[in-house]
Amino acid sequence: MKALVLEGKGQVSYKEVPKPECAPDGLLIKVDSVGLCGSDVRTYFHGHQDVHYPCILGHENAGTIVEVGSEVKGFKVNEKVIINPVLPCGKCWYCLKGWQHMCSDRLTYGHSIQGGFAEYMAVPGIGLERGQVLKIPEGVSTDEIVIVELLSSIVNSQDYANITLGETVVVIGTGPIGCLHSEVARLRGAQRIIMIDLNDERLEMSKKFSGTHFINSSKESAVEKVMEITDHFGADAVIIAAPSVKAQSEGLDMLRKRGRLVIFGGVSKDDPISKFDSNKIHYNEIAILGAFAYGPNDFKKAFDLVVNKMVKTEGFVTHVLPLEKMEEGVKEIQSGRALKVVLKP
Ligand SMILES: [Zn+2]
Ligand SMILES: [Zn+2]
Repeated sequence: MKALVLEGKGQVSYKEVPKPECAPDGLLIKVDSVGLCGSDVRTYFHGHQDVHYPCILGHENAGTIVEVGSEVKGFKVNEKVIINPVLPCGKCWYCLKGWQHMCSDRLTYGHSIQGGFAEYMAVPGIGLERGQVLKIPEGVSTDEIVIVELLSSIVNSQDYANITLGETVVVIGTGPIGCLHSEVARLRGAQRIIMIDLNDERLEMSKKFSGTHFINSSKESAVEKVMEITDHFGADAVIIAAPSVKAQSEGLDMLRKRGRLVIFGGVSKDDPISKFDSNKIHYNEIAILGAFAYGPNDFKKAFDLVVNKMVKTEGFVTHVLPLEKMEEGVKEIQSGRALKVVLKP
């Protein structure tokens, strides 16, 4: 089969590799759509602690079942499915607690096992244990369903931060993650959703989604503007969906007392230290939460939101490219012109 193989930092080749085999307790999938994620772009340039070259990336995978292992029940050839890329061990303290995304023995497609940047991918038995493979109903395309992966971590983070009815939520960073945060905040009942970005083009694209106010922080003070919008009260929650320590400390200045600061985006490993006014955290009783991934439960919730058309998906996928043009997709993401890029093996 053909696959896009990452051979080293910034080096990929589209080439013939052996087709994976279907395990007796697993499935073989023909990949129809695979999302190109911001984390794939980072791994492409800088590598990843769990990635050993050569490696086939791709964790936002949807496709068609082409083979069903002899021991597997409940799946048929030709069914369309989406695959949760995180395979927790199911046995450790975190898994038993229900925080499977914190499992330290988890496997992930695209890192520890072959991902979807290929014509075919195998789902091992462990990948079928916790409802990790979900059937896509008629009327939902594989291009549209791949956003479930990204959406799952947003569902988890807003649950964790308890975004609720009538709140003012600020989202800093209006890339694909920020746009989906605006959708989930609306569903949870937020009254004002203030979207902030440095890039006009990205800010403009985010207007298709559920933001109510839009601020270009390269042109005006985002903190002052948020205070003005909230009658100098401050926001209930600020979600940082941008890889910036400056945005994190600015986010703190936008909060009301007892507000929540959610650090959603990772920052550069070379400069991860944020400076906060700790008196503000102390006297204002601010909560700072990190949010990163999702459990099988969040994945199913996100799947239901997309399948039941509760989040806007039109306009979300801006680029559909053949798999071998992955590097073109990387450029589109970096330039800020793309919201979501879907690759077709
Ligand atoms: Zn992703
Ligand atoms: Zn575990």
